[in-house]
Amino acid sequence: MCGIIGVVGETNSTQAVDVLLSGLKALEYRGYDSAGMFVAGPEGGLVKAVGEIVNLEEEVTSKGEAFAGPSGIAHTRWATHGEPTVENAHPHTDMTEQLHIVHNGIIENYQSLKEGLSAQGMQFSTRTDTEVLAKLIGAHYEGDLLKAVRSALTMVRGAYGLAAMHAAHPDEIVVARLGSPIVIGVAEDAHYVASDSSALLPYTKRMVYLDDGDVAHLTATSYHVATLEGTARELAPETIEGDTEAVQKGGFEHFMLKEIMEGPQVVRDTLRGRLLSDNAKLGGLEPLLPEITSLKRLTIAACGTACLAGHTARYWLEEYAGIPVEVELASEYRYKTNWPEKNHALLAITQSGETADTLAAVREAKELGMLTLGVVNVVGSTIARETDAGVYNHAGPEVAVASTKAFISQLVVLALITMLVGRESKHLSRVQSAELVDALTALPKAIETVLKTAEQVKAVAEKYAQYEHMMFIGRHSHAPIAAEGALKLKEISYIHAEAYAAGELKHGPIALLDENFPVLALAPHDSVYEKTVSNIEEVKARKAPLIVVVNKGDTEAARLADDVIEVPKVHPLLQPIISVIPLHLFAYYVGTKKGFNVDRPRNLAKSVTVE
Ligand code: GLU
Repeated sequence: MCGIIGVVGETNSTQAVDVLLSGLKALEYRGYDSAGMFVAGPEGGLVKAVGEIVNLEEEVTSKGEAFAGPSGIAHTRWATHGEPTVENAHPHTDMTEQLHIVHNGIIENYQSLKEGLSAQGMQFSTRTDTEVLAKLIGAHYEGDLLKAVRSALTMVRGAYGLAAMHAAHPDEIVVARLGSPIVIGVAEDAHYVASDSSALLPYTKRMVYLDDGDVAHLTATSYHVATLEGTARELAPETIEGDTEAVQKGGFEHFMLKEIMEGPQVVRDTLRGRLLSDNAKLGGLEPLLPEITSLKRLTIAACGTACLAGHTARYWLEEYAGIPVEVELASEYRYKTNWPEKNHALLAITQSGETADTLAAVREAKELGMLTLGVVNVVGSTIARETDAGVYNHAGPEVAVASTKAFISQLVVLALITMLVGRESKHLSRVQSAELVDALTALPKAIETVLKTAEQVKAVAEKYAQYEHMMFIGRHSHAPIAAEGALKLKEISYIHAEAYAAGELKHGPIALLDENFPVLALAPHDSVYEKTVSNIEEVKARKAPLIVVVNKGDTEAARLADDVIEVPKVHPLLQPIISVIPLHLFAYYVGTKKGFNVDRPRNLAKSVTVE
């Protein structure tokens, strides 16, 4: 995810530089590892800088008033391909350096396109997919920018929100959308483009939302939308309400809810280009594939929610990939005695890639001579750079402190790793892995179904918000999901919450239960369903108020419960990804019912870079 902004204005009336800078600032929540802008015209040019928008602003300001023009495009980047460097920042150019593009998304077939263009003699100066797209459009350019974009895009697989300008046509912008948002802002003497309308609110409230497959041509006084094939589309502007922050939140009250609701898209983005018919394709692991697929032992090191993703994946890796796994709290790992074996790797899971404790565990493992792997969301982050190989989440930036969408994405990546290793080591048959591919493909739809229960979960949450304590239970791969439910509730509602593997209750914690200590039990229809139901009976006998999360149509666990939340039944490996969503929603609605700022919980920070 990254932010695109562009303006095409009438000479002397619009100052593109101001529009682009303030637009980038409004879009900074979408990504902020580097930024750049192209301003068309004799006083324009290309400027890029690494880091936050203020760094680009300094570069631009240092050029003084001589850097100006009525039209331009700009980008704040959230890297997916290639580290956050000045060269990799957008806009990217074609071979003539006349054509400029900014891009949000991933070009899946960029490698094969790159090979084709290299064979025609083109040289590449970055490792980004976007540079390939720029050069591809350049190769199709014969004096008509719209035509060039259109014919190049017919060769592209993947996702894009795109804005293109050519120095020879300083009064035109061409934009296109497939899988990444693009909105056009309509004003009297200028047209605007952005990844989201919040950046355009200072100039207009009249927005045209492109659909997937649309391509549009903008000038200061006109906009024309057509499909990629060229069929004209009549899209009238809609008038929007709200201030910048409200629009950034996409109409949601908090980023946390927005990010929970992004679940289906997050899964699509995480899976993009990574599914074969009966295996996973993980480019980042490819150089070390022989070592990875012959692992004899794996240590997962992580903190907080990421560690719970690791605990969940442990069940998968042991069952479907045949690897013995241990999960360590990263903050503890380097202070204990570790005994690395041959073919023993450490896998670090971290959203930010900067978590100090996880980084220390990675360094410890390196010192011990172990192979180090990472599942990291932020491209080019320290842990991404220091591990031997890894997989990026491609979940886009997470703004809310409490992690929800990154957790879903981590689980999806770990499912892909399980499939890859399981398939290569033959623990997973071709038929089994093909089933898993189908189940992963269907996962976004299943998440959409769960999200439809939000109102019901809200009603349940509001009923339980008054309690001081809460217990979460589940078995097998749902035991860590119970822990995630409890952690999220603690983080944002400050309710004391505990989590136990359901079978462990009777060994101690059941002593806590009475009518003032509610229990939320995860009881999907899995291999341990009957055992879980017995544990739920034990809870009921202690008069604890009881919520159950069950598969649709469940009767046994549901008949014991005071409140029932139904979720669809999916492939057993993926069921935890479905079951956790009502728990995230539950914590959110309890926190908001209690009036807390759930996006900024007390005492916590997003990226924990201290030990
Ligand atoms: N794939 C592009 C890059 O890495 C765009 C990134 C994005 O949209 O997040 O620069």
